[in-house]
Order: sequence, then C-alpha cells, then structure tokens
Amino acid sequence: MAAGTSTLHLLNARLADGGRWTLTVRDGVIAARSPATGAVAAVGDGTRLDLAGALVLPAPVDGHVHLDKTFHGGKWVPHQAGASVRERIDCERRLRRDARPAVAERAEALLRRLLAAGTTALRTHADVDEEIGLAHVEMLLRLRDAYAGAVTMQIVAFPQSGVMRRPGVAALLDDAVTAGADLVGGLDPQSIDGDAAGQLDAVFAIAQRRGAGIDIHLHDADAAGNAQLRDIAARTQAAGLAGRVTVSHAFSLGTPDRGDFERTAGALARAGVSILTSAPGAAPMPPVKPLLEAGVSVFAGSDNIRDSWSPLGSGDMLDRAMLVAWRQGYRSDADLALAYDLCSRLGARALGLPSRGVDVGDRADLIVVEADALGDAIARRPPRKYVIRGGVLAA
Ligand SMILES: [Zn+2]
Repeated sequence: MAAGTSTLHLLNARLADGGRWTLTVRDGVIAARSPATGAVAAVGDGTRLDLAGALVLPAPVDGHVHLDKTFHGGKWVPHQAGASVRERIDCERRLRRDARPAVAERAEALLRRLLAAGTTALRTHADVDEEIGLAHVEMLLRLRDAYAGAVTMQIVAFPQSGVMRRPGVAALLDDAVTAGADLVGGLDPQSIDGDAAGQLDAVFAIAQRRGAGIDIHLHDADAAGNAQLRDIAARTQAAGLAGRVTVSHAFSLGTPDRGDFERTAGALARAGVSILTSAPGAAPMPPVKPLLEAGVSVFAGSDNIRDSWSPLGSGDMLDRAMLVAWRQGYRSDADLALAYDLCSRLGARALGLPSRGVDVGDRADLIVVEADALGDAIARRPPRKYVIRGGVLAA
C-alpha cells in the first residue's frame, strides 16, 4: 500500500472529544469523518482497520532533538559536565572522542526509538565545529536518505562550540547548508561568542544567501536574553524571513519583568519568530499561553536525550507533553490538549509542514493508543498501538 494510491478506513476510532468516529484516509489525507454507526459495509473500498475504541491522535513532531549527541545505543555514561553551558561544551568535546559505538549507529538507534514512539517529523541539530567539520551533517544527511519513507527530517547546522570564537566555523556553516542542511544554527551570540552582532551577521547572511531557515539556541536569561530576542526579531523582519526563524529555549521569556516580556513577545509575533521549548527542568521556561495570546508561534521538542548534556529523556513526545504540562501547571483537559498541541500540530506549523490533526484535509500522520482520552494518554503514556504516516500503516 503506497501513499497517494490507497484508501484506509479507521473504524471505531475514539477522538479527543470522546466520540467514536469512522475516519477515511485517501491519498495520505483525511478525506472524510463520520460518527461510527457500526455499518461497516457502508465505508466502501479500501483497507479497514477496526480500532475498537482506541484513541487516535495527530502524530508527534519533535521540534528539536540532537540525534548526533546521544549515547543511546551504547553503554550508560554517567553524567560528568558542570552546570554552565561552557562547561558542558568542553565536557562534550572530551567525551565524544571515545563514545562507542560510532555516532552514526547511536543516532540511528535514537531515531528508531523516536519512530517507535510515533514521531513522523523532526528537526535535528548537527554539530559543526573546527574539530568535526561537516562529519555529523553528512552522517545525518545519509540517515535522512535511509529513512526518507519513515520520517520528515529537517537538519540544522549547529555551531555548538560557537562561531566567532572558533575561526573557520562560519564558513563551515555555509558549507553545511550547501551540502543539504535546511537551517543554519546559532548559539548564545553574546555569552558564548562575546560578539552578538558578529554571530548574527554571519548566521543571517548564510540564511539569506542560501535560502535557509535559522534556529538559534539562546540560554541567556532575563534582560540580556530578551534584548537578543528583539535583535533577532528585527533582523528577521529586515531579512524578510518571517516564519523561517526559531529561537530555541529562550529562557529569558520566563522573566518576572512583565514589561520586558510583553515588549519582547510583541516583537517576536510581529517578526514571525517561533519559540521552541523543551520544558527544561531547572531553567526558566517561556510561558506558553501568554506567548500564544501575544501571537507568537510556540512548539516543543526533546532537546538532549541521554547524552553529555542530560542523562534523561525518552524521545517519546507524550512524555514531553507531560513535562510541558508539569512545568506550566496545566491540569484541565483543555490545557493538557494544549501541551500535546505543542508536540504535534503546532510543531508541524512551526516547521512549515502540512497541517496535521484529525480533521478532514489534515495530513494523515496519526498515532493510536489505548486510552480513554488525551489526558489519560499524557498521564500514562501507553505504547503506540499503531503509527500511521501519510495514510500508510507504519507500525
Ligand atoms: Zn539543543
């Protein structure tokens, strides 16, 4: 059964509203939905799959994951890095030299874990520096080719060790985009590079020259971080890159300074800059609802999974939705649904992918779990009964 030629009828599908529905998927898109009546013969030609009341959700989108950093697929590595970003960078550069098995094998093992959890689209960051050059970008390009039928993968050329303080890295980022990376990354332009204007000049120049998107890690807190966010927003507008720029983490939006928050959120919304959060454990988290109310695009991702930055993480976006809800103090069903939206529909929108959901016209990227309701699925994170990608049963 190939996408584009097939019809799949999902019978007795429970949707988040609690009702039972028949969903008809044609050419990779949800073509019809109607209340389940038990009249199976009425659905017409095509493959029939009786879900017996299992819950159907839009498939997860992991908006930020570091496939090339993980130790997954190898032995447990006790956490060794200090708390600061600089200490973690130095620790990673030391540990990665001896990490086994090879990075390609570990990245593939983690990708397979994400796929098993139902993720059908992701954005992954490939480290680029003067030591590894484009090796990780090329490895992830090969992985993307090998799994092209299973997942949509965007690759960010990511200067984890800095741009301005590492001569040659700006040119490597340009080469990485030419080689096939979709986005050019940045990292703490002020606190790591000590030259915010220099790094942002370089990153935006590459994006404009090559038609690439931008995804910048920004860990700086409070006023210093928000000033950089407004700078990035202004540059995005000037470059005509609305909808193509993401700032990941943006801890500074968690500032208690309401005026600073509102000024910055307004600038991000006007410029079309998206904010990615991993619902971090110990850092201030961007407040999701106030950002959405200000018109800012917000989505979620795993970030580090069992690597030198964090020993934790599962790659399951139902886990991530639980963590978003936990950090934001969400309890109602509506709020839990929002937490999952960040991990699915809103992620697809931020990545510029076709709309996914359970409505007619949505791309049929779906997961099926045994759960009473979406809140139940987030609370228990049951295994995926089925994964459907582009209308095709994937697992
Ligand atoms: Zn990251």
